Amino acid sequence: MSQDFPVGGEVWFGRPAWAEVDLDAIQHNVRELRRCIGPRPEMLAVVKANAYGHGAVPVAETVLAAGAQRLGVFCADEGVQLRQAGIGVPIHVLGYTPPWEAEKVVRHRLTPTVNSRQLALALARFAAKEGAPLPVHLKVDTGLSRFGLPPQEVEDFARFVAALSSLETEGLFTHFATADEADKAFTRKQFAAFLTVAQRLPPIPFRHVANSATTMDLPEMALDMVRPGIAIYGAYPSPEVGRSLSLKPALALKSRIARLHRLAPGEGVSYGLTWVAQQPTHIALITIGYADGLPRCLSNRGAVLLRGQRAPIIGRICMDQCVVDVTHIPDVSLNDPVVVIGRQGEAEITADEVASLAGTISYEILCGISARVPRVYLRGGRVVRVTTLVEEETPAPSLS
Ligand SMILES: *Cc1c(COP(=O)(O)O)cnc(C)c1O
Repeated sequence: MSQDFPVGGEVWFGRPAWAEVDLDAIQHNVRELRRCIGPRPEMLAVVKANAYGHGAVPVAETVLAAGAQRLGVFCADEGVQLRQAGIGVPIHVLGYTPPWEAEKVVRHRLTPTVNSRQLALALARFAAKEGAPLPVHLKVDTGLSRFGLPPQEVEDFARFVAALSSLETEGLFTHFATADEADKAFTRKQFAAFLTVAQRLPPIPFRHVANSATTMDLPEMALDMVRPGIAIYGAYPSPEVGRSLSLKPALALKSRIARLHRLAPGEGVSYGLTWVAQQPTHIALITIGYADGLPRCLSNRGAVLLRGQRAPIIGRICMDQCVVDVTHIPDVSLNDPVVVIGRQGEAEITADEVASLAGTISYEILCGISARVPRVYLRGGRVVRVTTLVEEETPAPSLS
């Protein structure tokens, strides 16, 4: 094992493909967002999709300790997972809940988005058996054309919900289509449409519209609550969003060298032999592949960091492994740590860089990191928790 160069702390000696999640960075990002909106609005931290790949439960606990009041998920099961971990704060199901999940929502005291009379009636029926009314939120579609009620239907629908005594309309919200673009004209239009709807209703305690981009670029739209997601994880929603907050990426995706091998000119690499050595080449096998979340379209295009230098990915990325060219990097050894996303020494590969090579956005890269990749949680550079596919375990402190 060579440990004589800066790699940001070698902390994990389990499966050699893992994600390190810096909980201090998440705490920092929550505080930065808070700084942006001031003390008054609540913060609903969006932890859907396994907290954008970072691990729902550890992230939820961290954001709540850092000053978020509520959590947001997409579907009921994601909320149940948090409840089962003992989290008691309001958990909003931001997406569509089919009526047949009403009982589950009520049983776990989740806060649903109510979009139909059928769902409202189903929720009301189960909530009637509880001690207190169930808080629900109504969503208005102000131009994203995705989920929510058309503005002209909200007033009638709100009256319908108000008549159900076991439901309490706690919130009204909308979602923006272009908040991450430099031109905020459409966002302002959506915001105005939202306020118009809100003003036609009896007072509602929580009116909320702001995703990460809105929270950062248009904090005046924070209203009663903001709903940041990606910024909590330290990525910017898009290159067009202002950089006034200093966000810290929370996740690093790492692996290790599993084999070193020399190729003679003319020898090919990986399925299809799409890469062929033109000269004597030193190659390293890395045990991470597209089943872990490394997009296959980075074949012959991406790179990893090894000993603080870039090593190009050569040949096709396989399900579980890929090969990199290390000819130009001296002294590489078996088990050397490799950074797929993150920093090593002075070098850095961001989720945005991987995303742009893959023709997508950081969101998709982060939430695509699969369940079999262990998550190693850090506080003050020390491992505080590990989740793996098979169990929670504490890692052995070192290899030797
Ligand atoms: C995902 C989501 C968010 C968070 O969006 P980011 O761009 O990640 O900040 C906020 N609100 C709703 C309704 C969402 O679905």
